[in-house]
Amino acid sequence: MGDCATIKDHDLPATAQVAKQKAMYLGEVFNKCAKNGQDTQIPEFNFKNRGSMAYIGSWEAVVDMTPVHQKATEGGHFAWFFWRSAYLSMSVSLRNKIQIPMFWFLTWVAGRDITRF
Ligand SMILES: Cc1cc2nc3c(=O)[nH]c(=O)nc-3n(C[C@H](O)[C@H](O)[C@H](O)COP(=O)(O)OP(=O)(O)OC[C@H]3O[C@@H](n4cnc5c(N)ncnc54)[C@H](O)[C@@H]3O)c2cc1C
Repeated sequence: MGDCATIKDHDLPATAQVAKQKAMYLGEVFNKCAKNGQDTQIPEFNFKNRGSMAYIGSWEAVVDMTPVHQKATEGGHFAWFFWRSAYLSMSVSLRNKIQIPMFWFLTWVAGRDITRF
């Protein structure tokens, strides 16, 4: 599953979106197998592209949600805000939801660690 797996005839990128959908799929298949035993009909995995976002520096990002809505492309500061909101809302644990804004704040105040050594 995830980055370690490829699906024959379905080349998918090694991204979190793909890994998450594969994980959800596997969870559903395992639950079905546990319920129905060997008679389980295993559905094919289908990846649903929900779009891409990327930070491009200077508090700006690009967002391409065209797989979800035809006109949903955006670039600039609003896209940056959208990107950050998505990042935060999709982080799983409460610990990460608290830690991530703290790291963002620290980076904003003190700069990135990697450039300050
Ligand atoms: C710097 C960086 C930036 C990225 N940015 C993005 C992004 O912006 N958007 C995006 O969609 N994707 C991004 N990715 C890709 C994304 O992180 C991966 O596609 C995703 O995390 C894959 O999930 P996974 O569950 O397959 O693997 P992982 O998230 O790598 O999880 C594997 C887990 O298994 C653990 N593990 C390994 N070996 C063992 C072992 N022997 N026993 C027990 N545990 C073990 C590891 O510690 C790890 O926690 C980025 C990746 C990197 C490296």
